[in-house]
Amino acid sequence: MSKQYDVVVIGSGPAGYHAAIRCGQLGFRTACIEKWLNQNGKTAYGGTCLNVGCIPSKALLDTSQKYIEAQHEFSTHGIKVSKPVIDVPAMIGRKDKVVKQLTQGVAGLFRANKVDDISGSGRLIAAGLVQVTAHDGSQYEIEAKQIILAAGSVPASIPTAAVDQQTIVDSTGALDFTEVPKNLGVIGAGVIGLELGSVWARLGAKVTVLEALEDFLPVADRQIAAEAQKILGKQGLDIRLGTLVTNTATGKGKNSDVSVEFTSRNGDKQEKNQATFDKLIVAIGRKPYTEDLLDPAVGVELDERGFIQVNEQCMTSVANVYACGDVVRGPMLAHKGMEEGIMVAERLAGKKSQVNYDLVPSVIYTHPEIAWVGKNEEELTTAGVDFNIGVFPFVASGRALAANDSSGMVKLIADAKTDRVLGCHIIGPSAADLLQQVVIAMEFSASAEDLGLTMFSHPTLSEAVHEAALAANGHAIHIGNRKRRA
Ligand code: FAD
Ligand code: AMP
Repeated sequence: MSKQYDVVVIGSGPAGYHAAIRCGQLGFRTACIEKWLNQNGKTAYGGTCLNVGCIPSKALLDTSQKYIEAQHEFSTHGIKVSKPVIDVPAMIGRKDKVVKQLTQGVAGLFRANKVDDISGSGRLIAAGLVQVTAHDGSQYEIEAKQIILAAGSVPASIPTAAVDQQTIVDSTGALDFTEVPKNLGVIGAGVIGLELGSVWARLGAKVTVLEALEDFLPVADRQIAAEAQKILGKQGLDIRLGTLVTNTATGKGKNSDVSVEFTSRNGDKQEKNQATFDKLIVAIGRKPYTEDLLDPAVGVELDERGFIQVNEQCMTSVANVYACGDVVRGPMLAHKGMEEGIMVAERLAGKKSQVNYDLVPSVIYTHPEIAWVGKNEEELTTAGVDFNIGVFPFVASGRALAANDSSGMVKLIADAKTDRVLGCHIIGPSAADLLQQVVIAMEFSASAEDLGLTMFSHPTLSEAVHEAALAANGHAIHIGNRKRRA
């Protein structure tokens, strides 16, 4: 007889492991199926995020930022060190250690919450029935009253830049270079392209970012994007907008170069150009991963872009089958998947949990970080909303100056009539963590005045949020600016 569960989760990334653990906590007999094996042939829990995404990229960003500080900033603090040298294998080894610790941690959390971990590939073959293909090729079935699909995403590819993980790499390959490339090309100036480009630029690579769109970071507030473009340019990222990669050709041999053809604008004309790099990162986005996940006869519908179709509660077109995380619509962000996983588990237990899709924070972990939540100035202008903006530059923050880290600003937008906070856009030191206090405030429908009346510890970077809120109502104490559209 096949094994029986209350809930089976397919995929142990942030969406899947949060769903599984919460199901375990709620008393469901739960299993989570994961097919990924690490280099040692052990099941790799944690999905893209822990293995080849959020965590390893941040490990490399942190190391490379320390290298920059040792190289250029220690002396400002009066610390003399001899010229720092980057040991790339040691950096990658540390990153791998962090990944190992965290992925093993997920296995521990499964045990602690009585979630059965099943190593192999899961396929939904009927409502309530999952076929597992083990790594030795053997197959068996498990029954579940409820099934949660959390199969995630994989890097998108283009035929004109076929990834070989040697010379042309995707985001996964770019986490494992064995030496600093001299001349690095990056296709795509999105979040991943900018983060990974920054890592290798800090370590000494000459980095050229080729981006098809004319606008830099079109999803971000224009003022923040312009500031980011200026700062990243000064850091040495050569960001070429309006530049479409049309072809690539790699030379022969292991350390061969890659020749990249692209079109770019010169005045009104499109010009053909060519550049040669020793490595090329293809960072053109990600696509949902549903390979071998679904028997079409079950009737789980996909949308035109290949995402599993779900409603706001992550219910698919088939009863008792849910889907969450990158494999469904919405921003491809770990925290969005985590919240969806928890919501699904709690709904199975009869709770009325919801995800607030209006307040999904976005972060780019460059230095300085770029982070935002809610609406930006352009969106509100288009929507005809009257608003006040408070901007506070970090150069006026005592704590940022003390840390010698004072580029960027906090921009807070509040409704002109109700004063309710509508959005916050930050570029600056620790922007991601600073933003979080505004996310909480917005969850509680706070006004800019509420933030202004709250006491903030001094001296902290958070005071910049306080001052931006005061500035929105025209009374920042330091040099905040107010802009009104009313
Ligand atoms: P995934 O993490 O992709 O996990 C899906 C899991 O399902 C995988 O382990 C896969 O092996 C497994 N699976 C798939 N099909 C099957 C099957 N049939 N049977 C068994 N198992 C299966 N997001 C952030 O929020 N912050 C960041 O800083 C950030 N940085 C990133 C940096 C990089 C370089 C990349 C690539 C991504 C980054 N992301 C970041 C995005 C983040 O990693 C994803 O949004 C997140 O991992 C999605 O979680 P998920 O659980 O939906 O899917
Ligand atoms: P994101 O989706 O945020 O990861 O960003 C990926 C970026 O890659 C987008 O801004 C795309 O415009 C860009 N892009 C996609 N294909 C190409 C291409 N052939 N040449 C240059 N840029 C591209």
